[in-house]
Amino acid sequence: MKELEEKIKNDGSIISEDILKVDSFVNHQVDPELMLHIGQDFAEHFKGRGITKVVTIESSGIAPALMTAQQLGIPLVILKKQPSKILNDNLYQTQVTSYTKGTSYELTLSANYIGEKDHVLIIDDFLANGEAATGAIRLLRKAHATIAGVGILIEKSFQPGREKIKSQGFEVYSLARVSKMQKDYIEFIPEE
Ligand code: 5GP
Repeated sequence: MKELEEKIKNDGSIISEDILKVDSFVNHQVDPELMLHIGQDFAEHFKGRGITKVVTIESSGIAPALMTAQQLGIPLVILKKQPSKILNDNLYQTQVTSYTKGTSYELTLSANYIGEKDHVLIIDDFLANGEAATGAIRLLRKAHATIAGVGILIEKSFQPGREKIKSQGFEVYSLARVSKMQKDYIEFIPEE
C-alpha cells in the first residue's frame, strides 16, 4: 500500500536494524484517515470469504482492525493482554513472548465472543517473529473457530514471522513489507 509506505518513510523512525517506530500515526497518535484506507484495503482483499469477526491484539491493532471490521460490517474482538477481574469465566488463555519487551504475557479471550461458528480475520500492526499472531491462532483454535487469514500493516520480511504463519497453513496479507532498514534508510518489497 503506497500510502502506508510513504507515511513510514516520512514519519516513521528507525530505532535499530530491527525496530521501527510508528508512534506518530499508529501506536501512540493515530491517523484516522490512514486507518480508514487501511480498513478499506483489508476489507477489499478479504471480502466474500464468509468472515464473521475481526480479531486483534490490544492495543496497537485496535484502530486498523476496527476500521476493517466496520468496512466488512462485522464485529471486532480484542484479545486482552491480561486476564481482567471481570472476564473470569469461560476464558481461553495462552502465553505469548513480546517482541519489543522481551517478556511474556497472557493473551486472553472470552468464550462469549468467539465460537465454533466463527470464521476469523486476524489483524495486527507488526509482524516480526510471528509470536503474537501464533498466540492469536492458538486461542482461536481453543475456541474452535476457523481462521480466514492474517492481515498485517507492517511486515518486517527479514524476520521469520511470515514463514511461521504460512507454515501453519494461513495466508499473510501485509500492506507494507520491509525488506531492509538501517538508520535513515528503509527498503520495501515491491507490491505484486
Ligand atoms: P511478533 O510477535 O511477530 O514477533 O511481533 C509482533 C508484535 O510485536 C506486534 O504486535 C508489535 O506490537 C510488536 N512489534 C514487533 N516489531 C515491532 C517494531 O519494529 N515496532 C513496533 N512498534 N512494534 C513491533
